[in-house]
Amino acid sequence: MWPVIGQRKAVSLIEKSFGQSAAAHAYLLVGPRHVGKMTFAITMAQALNCSSATPPCGECPACQRIAGRNFSDVQVVGLQKAGGDETRPKTEISIEQVRELQHTASLAPFEGRCRVFILDQAELLSREAANALLKTIEEPPAGVVFILLTANEEALLPTVVSRCQRLELRPLPAGEVEQALLAKEIEPDRAKLLGRLARGLVGWALDAASDESLVSDSLTLRDRLIGVVRDGLMARLDYAAELAGIFGRDRQKASEILEIWRDWWRDLMLAKLGISESIINVDRLAEINEMASGMKLENIRKFIGDIERAEAELRQNASPRLVLEVLALNIPEVKNG
Ligand SMILES: [Zn+2]
Repeated sequence: MWPVIGQRKAVSLIEKSFGQSAAAHAYLLVGPRHVGKMTFAITMAQALNCSSATPPCGECPACQRIAGRNFSDVQVVGLQKAGGDETRPKTEISIEQVRELQHTASLAPFEGRCRVFILDQAELLSREAANALLKTIEEPPAGVVFILLTANEEALLPTVVSRCQRLELRPLPAGEVEQALLAKEIEPDRAKLLGRLARGLVGWALDAASDESLVSDSLTLRDRLIGVVRDGLMARLDYAAELAGIFGRDRQKASEILEIWRDWWRDLMLAKLGISESIINVDRLAEINEMASGMKLENIRKFIGDIERAEAELRQNASPRLVLEVLALNIPEVKNG
């Protein structure tokens, strides 16, 4: 009934929560970037303000305006550019933004039943801002619901997390992503490729269906990686240094690159085991088979373990340069012929 693809567990929790006399005051949606947290939150806001007998109907004026992001009682709060200075993007959600939100929250809903504040990337709340928000969540005005979105739950204040009802959104199986794309009339070959490349992230797949650059970025990162596997020692170390630089600037991007690594070696392992139907990089099947034939299964397995270990060490704030150099040096050799 909910217009959300997959996520049955989160949907059933929410249906239960909304079915009770009063919804919770604050929800925390946890899941990787592009898994569909914002779509889910918008759907929750629709359900809370829908005027039909079976909310969210998606068709009443409230549902439509919330979907179009022009319903005054539903606000999205997130990173804003600093004072019109486009060259200096802000890095946190500020106390001023939370104060403004608190003021709006104290007013009765203007056109709906319920004021909904969606806090995108809630882990970026400054400490001051998070503490201010905490006070509001602890003693919320009537008819106000907060929905916090995060891909990095550990970075949130534990006291904030403990005041929220937690909902986890998980990546979907490739087949479900493919079905979602087919339902949007994407042609079958493209739906299959995007379904695999999306790594379970329906939001990414839907964006990529209309934005070719997302696909080409992802493929460029992957092809660079394939080149590094074939290159010598110096090229590997250069690549590790480059990746450490990316990590310093944009952790999320660096972890996406490591996911692409993991997928590539997982594909090599599947090819080695003869299970090609689960391979993600379906457009490079011939190269996967060729590379896999030049590697030992145990070395591929070991390297997948190395990647997972590197990811864990980076999460624990080990030196990125060191971790990535060790990883690059551990890439198994390809024996040709
Ligand atoms: Zn509706």
